[in-house]
Amino acid sequence: MTQIPYLDLKRIHQEIQGELDEAYRQVIERQWFIGGKADEQFEQEFASYCGAKECVGTGNGLDAIRLILLAYGIGAGDEVIVPANTFIATVLAITYVGATPVFVDADENTYTINSQKVEEKITDRTKAIIVVHLYGRAVEIEPFRGLADKYSLKLIEDAAQAHGAAVSGVRTGSLGDAAAFSFYPGKNLGALGDAGAVVTNDKEVADRVRALGNYGSYEKYNHVYKGCNSRLDELQAAFLSVKLKYLDKWNEERRKIAEIYAKEIHNAKVVLPKMPKDIKEHVFHIYPVLVENRTEFIEYLREQGIATNVHYPIPITEQKAYEEFRGQIENYPVTKKICAQEVSIPLYPGMTEEEIEWVISCVNRF
Ligand SMILES: *Cc1c(COP(=O)(O)O)cnc(C)c1O
Repeated sequence: MTQIPYLDLKRIHQEIQGELDEAYRQVIERQWFIGGKADEQFEQEFASYCGAKECVGTGNGLDAIRLILLAYGIGAGDEVIVPANTFIATVLAITYVGATPVFVDADENTYTINSQKVEEKITDRTKAIIVVHLYGRAVEIEPFRGLADKYSLKLIEDAAQAHGAAVSGVRTGSLGDAAAFSFYPGKNLGALGDAGAVVTNDKEVADRVRALGNYGSYEKYNHVYKGCNSRLDELQAAFLSVKLKYLDKWNEERRKIAEIYAKEIHNAKVVLPKMPKDIKEHVFHIYPVLVENRTEFIEYLREQGIATNVHYPIPITEQKAYEEFRGQIENYPVTKKICAQEVSIPLYPGMTEEEIEWVISCVNRF
């Protein structure tokens, strides 16, 4: 029987094995592992890919969000607006700096933050709005820009799931004041370990993020902030430069699969994600379907050899770590529904036609 893993990185890594080996060889030859040529090169390439001026590598995506908040001086006593439907890292970054997350429910059509529910949450303590381009779908940014300008808030993007996604031709990384990316191996652009980046047009913010992630120092042994150590290393940067060249092609492959799913999956019990106006702007990090009888659906697919995932089974407000918000999921009915019904079916570059067809026929027979 066909066995379809949820994600198989071997397929994309195999085709670029030679280039990855060469990247490794060059770093070893230089014997320079932190803050060198590979780092500088990737930062330039990725900034330019996003259509932005600045990119600063970080140790991971969570740190990228956290360092942006710190760079803006956001901390204790401040509120940050954030979607209730997101990966926990977005919220961890806020509480890490001592600020308070203020949740906004998801939009029923896009599963991303509902722009119409934001203004009522703004208080005189609000300092920033974080939009999350969840599942690879870029958030329609205009209303958020309007609110950020009206109330003098920072507009921050969590673009960890949306490398290359765009709104009206403007790519993530260039949609807000500053954006955080993760290069966790399973993301659309993934390193071979942990890595992340901050992308912005604001040189001052970029410099501050770099200093904060480098022991709070702009200049060796001169420490301006109580910083931390969160940097992109040379090896990961070198691997990322290799993989960045393929990102558009891989995203295109993801879109093709999503289009086939949208066209060929017909099952009243399985609700498919809605497509954006311009499908070219979606990068389908995840293909989320909603199924009322989720446990049965997952088990059924498993029996057919198809692995799935859930993004995310437990709402953030209902996590042990956030006991102070316990019960508040009732205020976010769309998020509650997504957490109860979401199932991510396999979608990744390198999937064969046969595998795609098998997923479709199994889902249709559920
Ligand atoms: C992966 C992810 C992060 C965190 O990135 P790491 O590199 O794993 O720290 C943050 N936000 C979202 C939406 C993510 O999917």
